[in-house]
Amino acid sequence: MAHIILFGPPGCGKGTQAKKLTAITKYNFVCMALGDLLRKQISENAVHKATIEQYIRKGQLVPDSLSFEVVEDFIQKQAAGVSFLFDGFPRNIPQAIFLDNLLAQYKTQIEAAIFLEVEKKYLLERLQSRAVKEGRLDDQDLHTIQTRMELYEQETLPIANYYERMNKLYKVDGMRASDQVTETIEGIINGLK
Ligand code: ADP
Repeated sequence: MAHIILFGPPGCGKGTQAKKLTAITKYNFVCMALGDLLRKQISENAVHKATIEQYIRKGQLVPDSLSFEVVEDFIQKQAAGVSFLFDGFPRNIPQAIFLDNLLAQYKTQIEAAIFLEVEKKYLLERLQSRAVKEGRLDDQDLHTIQTRMELYEQETLPIANYYERMNKLYKVDGMRASDQVTETIEGIINGLK
């Protein structure tokens, strides 16, 4: 049982890596992609649909109180003893603390926070090609993308230090071919005790 976090700037490829790692059966990962769960709340007309939609549309982080509810609910529903792969959560320090406390309730913890580093100039290209492929509204608007980049730098980047202090941070060069990135991450996971 090894819980892993994947994080990095919007467009760094964490969603792609999360899918590939989840498909590797020996790890038995349950992937929790918060962006996907939030979009699901919208498509299923959940109580907070309107609020969630409003934040995602602007490229802002959904309020922590709402994210926490969704995350807790997701984790509670999984069988005991599964390994979680967190994609897009945590994205700020309060979320990182929340996750640590939540996992502690199950007597378990994050083993590795994998930081996918990609230079800014490539991110925009990736988001624009994703906008065409997936049709996400928040990828189609430059202003929204800008907001997400700024929020990433202000809110999410500090979690790198948070995990570094716990000796759980692993930096991975996310600019290489997708399969090479996966291989590097596999090496990290295989090296965990
Ligand atoms: P990206 O590839 O841009 O990281 P995601 O699907 O992970 O895409 O996230 C899309 C949007 O969902 C974010 O811009 C934000 O509005 C919301 N969201 C995702 N994760 C979080 C989070 N941890 N906290 C708050 N809002 C989130």
